[in-house]
Amino acid sequence: MTGTQIAYYFLCQRKLWFFLRNIDMEHNSDTVALGKFISESTYEREKHEIHITDDEDEIVLDFYDDKTKTIHEVKKSDKMEETHKWQVKFYISVLEKKGVEGVTGEIDYPKLRQKEKVELTNEDRTKLQEIRKEIGNIKNMEIPPDTINKPFCKQCAYYELCYI
Ligand code: SF4
Repeated sequence: MTGTQIAYYFLCQRKLWFFLRNIDMEHNSDTVALGKFISESTYEREKHEIHITDDEDEIVLDFYDDKTKTIHEVKKSDKMEETHKWQVKFYISVLEKKGVEGVTGEIDYPKLRQKEKVELTNEDRTKLQEIRKEIGNIKNMEIPPDTINKPFCKQCAYYELCYI
């Protein structure tokens, strides 16, 4: 499982299906490019991106503070706050799996000058197991889930695939 898969799971499961099939059109999206630019430029002076991979999961942490055991995730807007929280909860669970205890998260919104604390509870651990199973089920679907007709579809890299 990856952070992107978690994000798409909450955002749109059709989008997740395309992504799981390696139909990747995100490089065409200006919104994604802006998000990446903010993430990269904000921590330019303390570039500590960390990649962690095992046979189940692959995560990239924007910044990990070893002293306070805090994962920092940089986002440009809090519109998808719930999704961002689950991404960070997932990252905490991966560090736990690696034997790092007592990790918390912080979502930083530099444009809004806001920070959001994130913790992983036992309920969250159970929910993450369910999400993992459901992502596997979506991957095995023969045809993609239906379109969701949300306003943000127009900004989605898969818009043309879905509606034109
Ligand atoms: S355009 Fe809308 S329905 Fe299609 S993948 Fe994107 S978010 Fe999902």
